[in-house]
Amino acid sequence: MAHKEPASQTESAAPKSEAAAAAPSSATQSPQQKGNLYSVAQAQLEKAARAMNLSHDVYTILSQPKNELIVHFPVRMDNGDYQLFKGYRVQHNNVLGPYKGGIRFHEDVSLDELKGLAAAMTWKCALHDIPFGGAKGGIKFSPRLHSKSELERITRRYTSALGNNIGPDVDIPAPDVGTNAQIMVWIMDTFMNVVGASEKQSVRQVVTGKTIACGGSYGRETATGQGLVHCVTEWAKDRHFNLNGCSFILQGFGNVGSHAAKILSRMGASLVAVGDYKAYIANPEGINPYKLSEHVTATGSVDGYRGATAIGREEFFSMEADLAIPAALELEIGEKEARSLRVKVVVEGANGPTYPEAEQILFDRGIDVLPDILVNSGGVAVSYYEWLQNKRSERWDLEEVETRLEKRMKKTYGMVRDLAHERKLDFRTAAYIIGLERISVAYNERGIFP
Ligand code: NAD
Repeated sequence: MAHKEPASQTESAAPKSEAAAAAPSSATQSPQQKGNLYSVAQAQLEKAARAMNLSHDVYTILSQPKNELIVHFPVRMDNGDYQLFKGYRVQHNNVLGPYKGGIRFHEDVSLDELKGLAAAMTWKCALHDIPFGGAKGGIKFSPRLHSKSELERITRRYTSALGNNIGPDVDIPAPDVGTNAQIMVWIMDTFMNVVGASEKQSVRQVVTGKTIACGGSYGRETATGQGLVHCVTEWAKDRHFNLNGCSFILQGFGNVGSHAAKILSRMGASLVAVGDYKAYIANPEGINPYKLSEHVTATGSVDGYRGATAIGREEFFSMEADLAIPAALELEIGEKEARSLRVKVVVEGANGPTYPEAEQILFDRGIDVLPDILVNSGGVAVSYYEWLQNKRSERWDLEEVETRLEKRMKKTYGMVRDLAHERKLDFRTAAYIIGLERISVAYNERGIFP
């Protein structure tokens, strides 16, 4: 299986000066000052806690992460200079199992963003009954501005700074925005060498989302996009809607977005507009995601793709289509976007893409919202399979992984839908309740030490 090259090799083949010039233009930037993801996550937790009567004790524990680690570490650049980096790892909760969550390399990484994302991982794993807790980490920098060798040194120094705060039974990172299988392999290799020869082979599962050669799982690269499509398929069945011949708009053409687009296109759906950090493009006749993928691999962006015309961000959010798939960053759908969207359903591939006020506007307009912790959970599901395979020294074939993923996604989707219908709740609140219920039972049975 081919894995995505590091950001420096794809999105940043350009020299530093050119890459810096490729910062988001006014045509791509979010029009509003971004809010605080942690506050949004808190509001969502509060809404679900109220709807299910969550005990005040459990709510109190879950309202803050268990650990917030911040590290500063120097790295030697290619020109010999030292540069200081700021890295984070937020460990939200581990009552159900080791902390689990992605590592983000992005210039906007902040503690509150990671706190919100770490909490989402706790709910996501609990929703799927996966024996992991929730975490998220990252480094505040733009990987596009660095060479492959600088990225490797940054990743290895970050891993060594985290020390034994991560580990195969402690906290297990995975790819997220700006990171990929290569970065995971560097983390694994650094960790293996630090623990020493006798333990080396037993810590391979310190990260998931690795390359196949280094212990990754078949199907992990496409898992999040594939899981998203399973949710869309179930939604379409319930709504008696035919996906063959339908259209969709997509924000973000990275791991999640590009694979979702390819799988949907194989089912007969047509990608009519797509945007990334640099540009938005549209073609009502349809954009071929395979050809677009080649263009993005070569140039780093959807910008300049010949099979479509450039549009602005506002135009993108008002394009008529059946599905809208945000698969880029959080808090991209505000009240304005919610009023503009002309779709039947918003499918949250990204984590936290929708403000609560915007979600209410979508509901009032009769637009369904399939929530992030359900839709993008295929990634952590297959990460769990990878962790299990490494632990047991097994290799499952693609068919086995995909069969397990499909069964899990459809079962969980059905549970969320049934609870939502039974209790007249939105899907997000229903999904939170299922996860919170499992966490709550564990706390009630275990109590707290001492
Ligand atoms: P990625 O780095 O592979 O791709 C991110 C995409 O978003 C790129 O196309 C990038 O150009 C685009 N983007 C960045 N800034 C943007 C902006 N301001 N406006 C529009 N587009 C922008 O990341 P990914 O792994 O695909 O993750 C995307 C989202 O999915 C994130 O919210 C992530 O947390 C979530 N997610 C990822 C996984 C996974 O397995 N990779 C799993 C669950 C959730």
